[in-house]
Amino acid sequence: MGLPTAPDADQNVVGWRFDNTYARLPEVVFAPAQSAVVHAPRLVLLNHRLARELGLEFGALAADTVAALFAGQELPAGSQPISQAYAGHQFGHFTMLGDGRALLLGEHRTPSGELVDIQFKGSGPTRFSRGGDGRAALGPMLREYLISEAMSGLGIPTTRSLAVVTTGETVYRTTPLRGAVLTRVAASHLRVGTFEYLAARRDERHLRALADYAIARHYPKLAGVPQPYLEFLRAVADRQAALIARWQLVGFIHGVMNTDNMAISGETIDYGPCAFMNAYDPNTVFSSIDHGGRYAYGNQPVIAQWNLARFAETLLPLLDANSERAVAAAMSVLGDYPARFEHHWRAGMRRKLGLQTEESGDADLMQALLRWMQQARADFTNTFRALSSGEPLTGDRYQEQAFQDWYERWQQRLRRDDRPLTAAYEAMRAVNPVIIPRNQRVEEALAAAEEHDDLSAVQDLLAALELPYVARPELAKYQEAPTDDSTYRTFCGT
Ligand code: AMP
Ligand code: MG
Repeated sequence: MGLPTAPDADQNVVGWRFDNTYARLPEVVFAPAQSAVVHAPRLVLLNHRLARELGLEFGALAADTVAALFAGQELPAGSQPISQAYAGHQFGHFTMLGDGRALLLGEHRTPSGELVDIQFKGSGPTRFSRGGDGRAALGPMLREYLISEAMSGLGIPTTRSLAVVTTGETVYRTTPLRGAVLTRVAASHLRVGTFEYLAARRDERHLRALADYAIARHYPKLAGVPQPYLEFLRAVADRQAALIARWQLVGFIHGVMNTDNMAISGETIDYGPCAFMNAYDPNTVFSSIDHGGRYAYGNQPVIAQWNLARFAETLLPLLDANSERAVAAAMSVLGDYPARFEHHWRAGMRRKLGLQTEESGDADLMQALLRWMQQARADFTNTFRALSSGEPLTGDRYQEQAFQDWYERWQQRLRRDDRPLTAAYEAMRAVNPVIIPRNQRVEEALAAAEEHDDLSAVQDLLAALELPYVARPELAKYQEAPTDDSTYRTFCGT
């Protein structure tokens, strides 16, 4: 394509090793693309730790070369920019979509041999832009960077953020905003919607090729098993069950769980109006566009199942030539999902409560705590962390009789486990975070960056989120719950 490729000498310095497997798929699933020309790229954030993990080193490049690179003005050798085709159910409605403002540079081979997608978000229009400008604004790209790195710090599968640059261009939303490009790193950008795209075109031949590709890339053990596509469905469903359980256990609310935002790899993807819950309430919604609460905290497990049903539908022709048998097989996998979710969630909740063994009353003990938290409007994160301290709980809420009764019951349950209480508390501190990206801290940091070009609050927050399970008194301000977040709203990153 038209953009110049940087000289090889530079590439050897950086360490790119592209192997563009997706671009070797039939061209129906992508379109060649290129970054828009921008006039004043400037580096805002570069994730040096992630770069090191990827075997990339940008230290030897001049600042303007790095900015030009991450603004798509100088492409790495071996990259082959394309935009990916996909479809999706958005708030329940089917649409043909595709990368309208993203561009896949290709797949980079890391030192450990993994293949990861390198993607620009906000790099200009593509064949799939559907009237959109293909651009992104600085605030939403910084938000994705912050929250994805927070998820990574928490140990939850997620796409990563390598860099943010401003482009020097203005993007027009409700107000003029600074244009930006995020460089995203993912196990892949295959989505439920990628399969929906081919299924909608009734393109069974290419659908099979895509499924084989996804299996080879993300579930290689399934290649050659007797019913590979059914086992593929089961494996994707199980990774989603495990992922959503992880979200629930830290109070993460994705905000737009459309099928185009559900990754086949099992990573959290597409950080738009996402945010973390404070006071425990299953009805919590922060997204300004989610009027019906479809993607509320408490709905996430069942929405994932709904999305998996859309995924299963795409695979039907591959499951069995007899459509009734295909449906029956898919239904049986989908029917297992609630129990798989419950399994992952309960195992996680058991760890959060320091329980080492399993007892029949454990589920009720968990639900009783959640019921109390909801009626007391107790902070989800801080309550679990307080329980992990092993010290008497101060604070008015914890003096309520309902809580005291639950606490006594929990203490008795802990004592029935065959380990010292101190060991239980220590194990709890390893899974109950001290620091999550609190809404007011995120907003404060984004405002300073957007309005005053001051990145220090973003940098400080990122540093705090790197070790979310480690209590550090000097970081107490990141533990504070907002006084009232019932009117807090997040906006889609378009
Ligand atoms: P998202 O809300 O980021 O998951 O995007 C949903 C769909 O809208 C995807 O197909 C995006 O590529 C597309 N899209 C979002 N923002 C833009 C934009 N500014 N220009 C073109 N397409 C966009
Ligand atoms: Mg999306």
